[in-house]
Amino acid sequence: MRKDKQILIAGGAGFIGSHLCEAYLAEGAHVTCIDNTSTGRKQNIRQFIKEPNFSFHQVDICESLPAEVTKQKYDFILNLASPASPPKYQELAIETLLVGAIGTKNLLDLARRDNARFFHASTSEVYGDPTVHPQLESYYGNVNSYGPRAMYDEAKRFSEALIYVYRNKYGLSTGTARIFNTYGPGMDPEDGRVVSNFITQALAGKPLTIYGDGSQTRSFCYVDDLVKGIMKLAASDEEGPINLGNPSEFTVLELADQIIELAGTQSKLEHHPLPVNDPTQRQPNISKAKAKLAWEPRVSLHDGLGKTITYFRETLGISSY
Ligand code: NAD
Ligand code: UDP
Repeated sequence: MRKDKQILIAGGAGFIGSHLCEAYLAEGAHVTCIDNTSTGRKQNIRQFIKEPNFSFHQVDICESLPAEVTKQKYDFILNLASPASPPKYQELAIETLLVGAIGTKNLLDLARRDNARFFHASTSEVYGDPTVHPQLESYYGNVNSYGPRAMYDEAKRFSEALIYVYRNKYGLSTGTARIFNTYGPGMDPEDGRVVSNFITQALAGKPLTIYGDGSQTRSFCYVDDLVKGIMKLAASDEEGPINLGNPSEFTVLELADQIIELAGTQSKLEHHPLPVNDPTQRQPNISKAKAKLAWEPRVSLHDGLGKTITYFRETLGISSY
């Protein structure tokens, strides 16, 4: 693959998107980052702004794309743009539905114009509250289309359907990943997801907020592992959908225990009501990613949380002593 490839990353100022900007810049690519900063942060990309191969444009992908973005011809278009944290996508409910539909369509049209390869960040949420465990790509899911998580789950399902049509109707090269819970440095401490909540609470010596009895499970992937998987998928001809996640599964209580131990805090647990439609279990079957991309995660939850806690300490200005 050419070193000087032109890459457009939508949602590039977000948590995962900013890691992708960094990784592609390190490969020598030209990176155009577009983001409306609704849930992302300019501080995530501050360190790249002076790099000659990097440009940032404050753009809402649901609007028609501006000339400063469309004047470039792209080899790869990566769509990470969407609120992703439940409290954020519930607050930005209509925006979340529209970015999955109109925003994705605008980027697909640009990819068609350039004959670019299109990567899309779909989600394990397309499986809803799964009745099949662990989840294989062939599972159609158990999603409530009329509930408090529907704006996110259905937006992502719509995106997948739209991508399928663009691929089959127009012959566009597309690669769709179903990403499972990912964490790491660069997360917004105010994001509202479980890892960022628990770490900020633990470092402040506050109780950890367990929703429900904490027996629900998630499988947490360290961001560096995920980024490698995304880049492999983008560089391949693989269509997907393909699960990208770490198959090591933990209850929310086990996660809380690990964070309390690693943060060295005396924080207690505080139970809150379980949100409606909160999935009870989630674990990726990644045999397809192993076979098609020769990819699997390497970083254990223990090691990844250690690095993430160090990042939060620095970000929040909390000494480790
Ligand atoms: P994030 O909120 O940190 O990043 C999303 C970025 O998209 C933000 O910078 C936001 O400002 C931007 N954005 C939102 N709407 C936009 C719009 N209309 N136009 C332009 N930019 C817009 O979230 P993240 O965790 O980095 O997630 C990135 C992508 O990966 C999302 O599409 C998300 O659905 C998907 N994903 C993430 C996870 C995870 O665990 N982090 C899991 C599954 C899927
Ligand atoms: N959760 C929790 N306490 C929190 C935040 C989340 O117990 O402060 C739970 C939440 O109910 C869910 C799991 O942790 O069961 C993961 O939540 P998150 O919002 O990170 O992502 P989800 O996988 O639900 O989209």
